[in-house]
Amino acid sequence: MSRYLSEAYQSLEAYTPGEQPQDMQYVKLNTNESPYPPCPEVIEAAAREAGRLQLYSDPVCANVRDAIAGLYGVKRENVYVSNGSDDILNFAFMAFAGRGGRAYFPDISYGFYKVFGDLYGVDYTQIPLEADFTIDPEKYHHRDGMVVIANPNAPTGLTLTVDEIEGILRSNPDRVVLIDEAYVDFGAESCLPLTAKYDNLLVCQTFSKSRSMAGARLGFAIASAGLIADLDRIKYSTNPYNVNLMTCAAGAAAIKNNGYYMDNCRKIEATRAETTKRLEALGFTVLPSKANFIFAKSDRIGGGELYQELKKRGVLVRHFTAERIKDFNRITIGTPEQMDTLIQKIVEILEA
Ligand SMILES: *Cc1c(COP(=O)(O)O)cnc(C)c1O
Repeated sequence: MSRYLSEAYQSLEAYTPGEQPQDMQYVKLNTNESPYPPCPEVIEAAAREAGRLQLYSDPVCANVRDAIAGLYGVKRENVYVSNGSDDILNFAFMAFAGRGGRAYFPDISYGFYKVFGDLYGVDYTQIPLEADFTIDPEKYHHRDGMVVIANPNAPTGLTLTVDEIEGILRSNPDRVVLIDEAYVDFGAESCLPLTAKYDNLLVCQTFSKSRSMAGARLGFAIASAGLIADLDRIKYSTNPYNVNLMTCAAGAAAIKNNGYYMDNCRKIEATRAETTKRLEALGFTVLPSKANFIFAKSDRIGGGELYQELKKRGVLVRHFTAERIKDFNRITIGTPEQMDTLIQKIVEILEA
């Protein structure tokens, strides 16, 4: 029992973020950050705004919303920005499934879905992944609540096709279908174009992974104007200034320099292919990933043990203890040099 906490939250199990250790320098491959820094224009934009911090930020976030709208060929009214895409997921669970609504998402996926489900009293169902860790899209057809799917899924890196997502949309016309595209820029196909056709589609993306801004906290959603207005209503009922001045300007500058970030994504894809090959040569099973991480299991060492041994040697990866995936580790794709270190340490561990 927590003494002062409201009765409603006594059994709430919070999300556990990946470690952000401050004690020593690790090769940090555990939270899917970009290994590449923001471009100079982004750093300049944030610094310029730092001199105006006495003012509130623009609650409309016009500059960054217009930049995003321009890039994806939609209107400002179709774009919502928030303090990280976690904030959007938070608001979406509150807005579209809160206080006794229903939601459906995979049993193995981004851990926050379950936390938000618990937080808002959602009657949610976790649908098991197939034996090969794929999602069977038909299991999300004709549901009586919000459908939430990360595409690519985390921590597997596996994808559904846009046609499969369209099938889910078509069979749930009266329900919100939230597609979390946090990793879409690393080679997956986005379902953003479907927002023009389906009022019930909410696509979330983030600047944290492909645009090197995890520390700035900026996420965005693209959807019909109606869904964006619903999210806005929640925003203006909680925290109207939820994206700070520096982050708004940095985000707009990042979109204006999109080529730099997409080049980095192509580099990460090449490093992902190379790392996959090297791990397979060492006897690992690696799921075919379209994200900036790979999900891999060794035939010679358990997932928990490999995680511990790598940490001792200064390399951090992410291990999950859930029964079905405890043999695996999720490894963020870093620079080629960081991946050399990873492979070298794994060889060392396997030889010991
Ligand atoms: C990282 C991640 C997010 C959250 O990203 P933010 O940093 O809050 O923008 C959302 N969904 C998935 C699947 C993620 O992996």
